[in-house]
Amino acid sequence: MLRRAVLSYPIPPAPRTAVLSALFRSKGNVRVFAGGWSEDAVRFGAQSIAGRLEQIEELRSIASPTHALIVLRWEWEPGLSLEDRDRLWHAFGVPAFEQVIAANGELLAFECEAHCGLHIASRRFAAGDHEIERSRCACGKTSPRWIERTARPRTAVAGG
Ligand SMILES: [Zn+2]
Repeated sequence: MLRRAVLSYPIPPAPRTAVLSALFRSKGNVRVFAGGWSEDAVRFGAQSIAGRLEQIEELRSIASPTHALIVLRWEWEPGLSLEDRDRLWHAFGVPAFEQVIAANGELLAFECEAHCGLHIASRRFAAGDHEIERSRCACGKTSPRWIERTARPRTAVAGG
């Protein structure tokens, strides 16, 4: 039987994190709510929430994460725009971290706390003709980063 992936938290160790996707399995502080947000998720007291952008946006004024949002997307979908990020920031007041996952939940690329491109986590990630940044990231990691053409480094803390 296929063993599901565990969500890779952007800045370990993970706080109580609700994952709204059946592609993952629960482990430690990371709890999967495969049916989406629920009373159980509320009781869990999620400090961070991982899910697709539309799932997370539905939780505006419902959930109050204190740590972070992890926005999961498929490879072929566009990344978070600055407008998306601003909307999330105004709705939740916590930073958003984008993650690109494969159909089996494998992490392909992820955003770190420097919010400057996506660190490529798997050889299966198709970078296409996008720019690849190979210099050391401000977060200290040296893995190549996929830079979206529209992405700009955020020099100020969101909302500042
Ligand atoms: Zn980084």
